Amino acid sequence: MPVLCLIANPNDSELDPALAAAIAGQTGGELNWLNHAIACEIIEPKSTDALDIARQIIGQRRVDAAIVPTEQRRKQILIADMDSTMIEQECIDELAAALGIKEQVAEITDRAMRGELDFGQALDTRVALLKGLERKVVEQVRREQITLMPGGRALVQTMKAYGAYTSLVSGGFTLFAEYFAKRIGFDEAVANVLEFDGEQLTGTVTKPIVDKDTKRERLVALAAERNLQLSQTIAVGDGANDLDMIRIAGFGVAMHAKPAVAAEAGIRIDHGDLTALLYLQGYSDEEIVR
Ligand SMILES: [Mg+2]
Repeated sequence: MPVLCLIANPNDSELDPALAAAIAGQTGGELNWLNHAIACEIIEPKSTDALDIARQIIGQRRVDAAIVPTEQRRKQILIADMDSTMIEQECIDELAAALGIKEQVAEITDRAMRGELDFGQALDTRVALLKGLERKVVEQVRREQITLMPGGRALVQTMKAYGAYTSLVSGGFTLFAEYFAKRIGFDEAVANVLEFDGEQLTGTVTKPIVDKDTKRERLVALAAERNLQLSQTIAVGDGANDLDMIRIAGFGVAMHAKPAVAAEAGIRIDHGDLTALLYLQGYSDEEIVR
């Protein structure tokens, strides 16, 4: 049974009851609010092109729309990208800023995340530029320059409360991924290891690197270990290296993603925060662990 989800950003909602009623009026189906004026679902829309109808009526308003099946709607595995998905920055760009070369590195990051460059080569090139950076500066960047994406803790804590396993898989670095995984509440973190010579970065990462294949393989392995089908999983990311795991997950979510990623993903969230992933799964406001 299909459900049409309408989701806004809790801090800036343009989803009012009139808009939801207007959409339900056109698509048919039963309107049910998950969080008043922030997220609702239209159960069993009658139109076959309900998503197109919803998007047309939404127009320029900052409201996301997605159609999901109700079968196995609450997922048992969450696998998430870190940079620009669970945190608001790209760690490597912030490390580069400490060396005064942010612009140069950020341009490569952006192109790699758009899928225009080979991920491994782009990683090597950028990490080489960080050679000599001191460990204490890395830790300072981690402490002072990184902010958590809104809704991330609620997403992880709620899914865990309902029995899911949560994994942070990052093409970034363990120094960040392990730290933020712990703060957010993830069960595990997988990321690249920056190599040190004493207290300074050598400009290299341990091989083999965590790339798009690692992310996809981790999702497949986690599902197998827990006797789950991929349809019982949800993956979220914003970059080209997330697309393979997004494609095979039950719910594959492109989160404020690069255009090529958003176009390919089953579900795109352009306006909502990370609690959008809970509303997609049918969690109501009262069920969300905050
Ligand atoms: Mg990312």
